[in-house]
Amino acid sequence: METTAIDGRMFVDGQRSWGSSGSTFDAIDPATGQVFAAVALADHRDVDTAVAAARAAVDAGWAGLPPVRRVRILNRLAALLREQRAEFARLESLDVGKPLRQAEDDVAAAAGYFEFFAGVADKVFGSSIPLGKGFVDFTLREPLGVSAQIVPWNYPLRLASRGIAPALACGNAVVAKPAAEAGLSVVRLAELATEAGLPPGVFNVVTGGPETGAALTHHPGINHIMFTGSVPTGIAIMKAAADNVVPVTLELGGKSPNIVFADADLERAAASSATTLMQNSAQTCTAPTRLLLESAAHDRFVDLLAQRIRSIRLGRGLDNPDMGPVVSERQMRRVLGFLKSGEKDGATAVTGGGRSEKPELARGYFIEPTLLDRVPRGSLVEQEEIFGPVLTVTSFEWHALRPRGRHLDKRPGQGVGGRDRGQVGPGARECVQRRGKHRSPVRRLQTQRVRPRAGRRGAGELHPGEERHDQLRLRLLAECPRLAGAPSCTVPAGPASGWLAPPCCRASMPAARRPAAIKPPADPARRRAEDFEPWAGS
Ligand code: NAD
Repeated sequence: METTAIDGRMFVDGQRSWGSSGSTFDAIDPATGQVFAAVALADHRDVDTAVAAARAAVDAGWAGLPPVRRVRILNRLAALLREQRAEFARLESLDVGKPLRQAEDDVAAAAGYFEFFAGVADKVFGSSIPLGKGFVDFTLREPLGVSAQIVPWNYPLRLASRGIAPALACGNAVVAKPAAEAGLSVVRLAELATEAGLPPGVFNVVTGGPETGAALTHHPGINHIMFTGSVPTGIAIMKAAADNVVPVTLELGGKSPNIVFADADLERAAASSATTLMQNSAQTCTAPTRLLLESAAHDRFVDLLAQRIRSIRLGRGLDNPDMGPVVSERQMRRVLGFLKSGEKDGATAVTGGGRSEKPELARGYFIEPTLLDRVPRGSLVEQEEIFGPVLTVTSFEWHALRPRGRHLDKRPGQGVGGRDRGQVGPGARECVQRRGKHRSPVRRLQTQRVRPRAGRRGAGELHPGEERHDQLRLRLLAECPRLAGAPSCTVPAGPASGWLAPPCCRASMPAARRPAAIKPPADPARRRAEDFEPWAGS
């Protein structure tokens, strides 16, 4: 890739910019440790400018645009993303270190988010609430205003799109802040959105680290925060949201288990478990890197898994290996620290166990795919999210799973492997059902994902289609204060209430704005019908 061509400027109010201070930080290729771009470092003044641009865009009419226009823009953006899939994938692979084909999947997923939410943009409905004869309240869902989007480095384009697509679809403007480790694709996405017809100021990106993020989440001009990242940062962001009294959507980290029983198809389960490490070097919030293995299958399964893991080819993401480096030197040191801690706790590295010693990988942040066996239950490596290519194995006797199930409290997803439902202990079923969405997750399978509803994962799990509710506020438009016991009607007279207002409201309106009174129909049969259609004719 022509690295000199990579533009590291942020994107504010429809334009690339180096920001007020002109300061920059380095974008580093994790496969080589080499700097490949200088990236603008946004400070609080740049955050002010971006939030002001977003606010101006909302006020200038983005929020009130006929929804079908938003549908078209978002679909056009998705089409452009698909057209430029190769360019985006190369940038993402270089920036994050992931294999190119995984980056290509990410671009396709990002385009999918824009297509999905384009379909939602003109289907945002309120409700009508019948309150008895003569009274109907109704609600509208309307945009919140300026949505601050804090994006992590592991899937910058994909996760940014997951938050930004519903925000834009619902008529909000966005100020996004990708991670300093990797996030250039998000800036490019904003630029592409302008090419797709998005008005300037609707989608802004400020680049920088935690300080830039904190300046954005504390900004008094924002109306919503969407955050994906670690639990400690999520806690800080929730506090910032509380100070600002704005709604917040969190997607946090976790530690997911796979549970393999002795009667599972061990070959398939081993293949699936090894894939966990290859997917973005297990820097994935749902990566099931904690393996609970029934003792009876221990030796055979560990052997099968080790064979698979030893065959994983490491290399530079752009060369499409099985697995790339981890994202940064800091992340590499963190993972190596976990490996040391596992060793101290008595775990054994069956494969890997440290930094790759291959000379051609020596300058990059490569960690050998590691299978840590005999990991004591409750130890640090078994409990904490390592966010690197380390799979821990802890054995269990199946009848003892019940108490273990109670310890599975840090898991965004989990898999269960076992052929025979009847063989699966009640504890397994309980631990899955207690938190899982699906009632009957234990099937004849090697891996079944179950997502919990609770835990420290976040304030509500995100699903395509549900995110939009976080991007809208519900507004009650008409109500009858008299019905609620008020002595007189205070519903403002206007075009809407002129059409919908009940008789008591009409009586209190200025004569000029009062709709014609309903004349009781002479025909008693029609009259009865109108009891159920009180506003017909008004
Ligand atoms: P992180 O929390 O360190 O950073 C995430 C983002 O927050 C970055 O853009 C960072 O600059 C910004 N940030 C950091 N401190 C901030 C502050 N005080 N105020 C505002 N912004 C701040 O997380 P990370 O290291 O980038 O990502 C890894 C973590 O994210 C893992 O724990 C992983 O599980 C989690 N994650 C979760 C999901 C999910 O969908 N649930 C997806 C990806 C990552």
